[in-house]
Amino acid sequence: MFYLEGLHLKGFRNYHNQQLHFHPRLNLVIGENAQGKTNLLESIYYLSVTRSFRTNRDNELANFEDRYFYVKGNFVKDDFKHIIQLSYRLNEQLKVSVNRKQEDRFAHLQHFPVIVFSPDDLQIIKDGPAIRRRFLNLEGSRLNPLYFEDLKNYQRSLMQRNYLLKEKRNHLKIREYLEPWDYKLAELGSSIINSRLILIKALEKEARLFFDRMTGSLEELTLRYSSTVDFNNNPETTRNNFLNALSKKRDVELKKGSTMIGPHLDDLKVMINGFDSRRFSSQGQKRTAALALKMAEVSLFKLRNDESPIILLDDVFSEFDNSRKMHLLEFLKETAGQCFISTATGLNGLVENLQSDYKIITVRYGRAFDETDRFGA
Ligand code: ATP
Ligand code: MG
Repeated sequence: MFYLEGLHLKGFRNYHNQQLHFHPRLNLVIGENAQGKTNLLESIYYLSVTRSFRTNRDNELANFEDRYFYVKGNFVKDDFKHIIQLSYRLNEQLKVSVNRKQEDRFAHLQHFPVIVFSPDDLQIIKDGPAIRRRFLNLEGSRLNPLYFEDLKNYQRSLMQRNYLLKEKRNHLKIREYLEPWDYKLAELGSSIINSRLILIKALEKEARLFFDRMTGSLEELTLRYSSTVDFNNNPETTRNNFLNALSKKRDVELKKGSTMIGPHLDDLKVMINGFDSRRFSSQGQKRTAALALKMAEVSLFKLRNDESPIILLDDVFSEFDNSRKMHLLEFLKETAGQCFISTATGLNGLVENLQSDYKIITVRYGRAFDETDRFGA
């Protein structure tokens, strides 16, 4: 069992001084707009990742008046307690301690996993390909350290190659110079594409299961890799096709001064009933598809580690109809990890019907109140 047992916030966003204890399974965070629901979830994410899902700037997290913040969390993992303490003063480095020992900022990153779904995650369906590539790269690196290495080396080679294409394009020997970079790019690029195909297959399996239950099997989700390279499941063939494509594009690339083939330009197509969801889906369908990708992440994580990450769902219920809400709650119940759900509208009895064991936390003006502890009520 892995869960966050307690939290202490000082000067974090609109919380001056707040201590809370959580339910090991389900915590409902209820309050009107602008009271501090997302801030509370953000602090939990921050404890795990030492980065917010809303901003990259630590100073935005410090309360406007207090000008510092302190976040302390007690995680329970494998029956042991782990205390994470984060403290920050304006314009200073974040201080991190794990079990009262000062640590590097990212040292505990893999140990206390938290996955968040917030309204901004809709962008993964709505926005251009860059955000989906980022998703694949993050997930790929999490699943497979080799992917991260390939990606780093690929990006380095790509920069070198682009530099040559731009700066030395009029040099007589340019084609000779480019050749070794072509090989390097094709080698690393085809390996990345291959890893992405494996990842997408695994993600698709889990995302489809989730999507099926959310829609009562009335809609079908498919994930397709869309590439500038003619790829298949054999990395060697993909690499040869990559090389051929580069040589065909040689003149155009020299004119443009940039590399026009490779995984840095590819996309993950999320399709609903065979149509590109980015262009043809309703708002609710897009949100369901985005949530399916996130919950597929949760499922993959669970398969790998035999334990669910902590799940934060910020404002997830505002756009779902009752049946989708119900199916989501059932999924969370089966996943059996700790979950925090924030809502401004309440859940109108949905939770009570499904589960008797949960905690309600209400939030008002930057203060959180432990409302009910319903252990088997
Ligand atoms: P909604 O239902 O609209 O999403 P919420 O309860 O999730 O509302 P939060 O996003 O948690 O609201 O924000 C609550 C308040 O915190 C906002 O009014 C915001 O102005 C305030 N706030 C944000 N950052 C800081 C900060 N650094 N210091 C003080 N207050 C802050
Ligand atoms: Mg909010």
